[in-house]
Amino acid sequence: NGMLTLRDVHFAYADGTPALQGVSLDIPRGGKTAIVGANGAGKSTLFLTLNGTLRPSQGEIKLDGRLMTYGRRDLEQWRRQVGLVFQDPDVQLFSASVEQDISFGPLNMGLTEDEVRRRVEEALIATGTEPLRNRPVHALSYGQKKRVSIAGVYAMQPDVMVLDEPLAWLDPAGQQEILALLAQLHRAGTTLVMAVHQMDVVADWADMVIVLQAGQVIYQGAPQGVLAQQ
Ligand code: ADP
Ligand code: ADP
Repeated sequence: NGMLTLRDVHFAYADGTPALQGVSLDIPRGGKTAIVGANGAGKSTLFLTLNGTLRPSQGEIKLDGRLMTYGRRDLEQWRRQVGLVFQDPDVQLFSASVEQDISFGPLNMGLTEDEVRRRVEEALIATGTEPLRNRPVHALSYGQKKRVSIAGVYAMQPDVMVLDEPLAWLDPAGQQEILALLAQLHRAGTTLVMAVHQMDVVADWADMVIVLQAGQVIYQGAPQGVLAQQ
């Protein structure tokens, strides 16, 4: 029984483009799940669905066995449990300083000032962004922005972190840094779901792979099953 369970989920954009066409999948608690698929396969749409931003036109989503009904309280709880890191960090970062940006999520959750401070410190240290804390976000390198965007979600302490191609546009050293950071977050108990293109990363990193093609799941299972078909 997955932590996040989708059953026959459909979603079409306003212009009629069908992005998800009967997706069923299980995200196991404590797992490292890789989502694989060509551009346009539906990965980003799936991620926005996983954190409640997009509402399916058909099908159901359960979080810890609870059917999501898209009520206000449902959504509030959902966003605390499932954190989304966008592919493009510029979508997520907008504050004057790194520290302010990381504070934004926890402040929004209505936590006390002390608790916000505690979480921000933790996130700065866990993600190696502490030395950048007073820097303006727009002056950071792309890799640094990636770290800060992960730190902002980490500070909300979600049970599941969903990352849309966190390795995209990074050089090999930058990719290794992000993978090391994710390993650390996983050890700390975070369930991870990430979209990734590189099959060697899938082999080394994931314990479960979901392959999307044209809005449908064509494989869910162990990485070996996908790699054998390459
Ligand atoms: P991926 O993340 O795997 O590249 P997406 O979820 O972005 O895939 O896209 C799935 C499908 O939905 C594609 O056909 C894409 O062109 C379409 N799509 C994505 N965003 C929109 C949008 N805002 N309006 C209309 N169609 C969209
Ligand atoms: P997708 O992979 O979802 O089809 P794109 O490949 O068009 O989308 O771009 C994904 C995001 O990466 C975009 O928001 C874009 O701003 C950003 N991006 C594209 N090229 C670069 C680059 N060379 N350096 C940094 N960011 C880039």
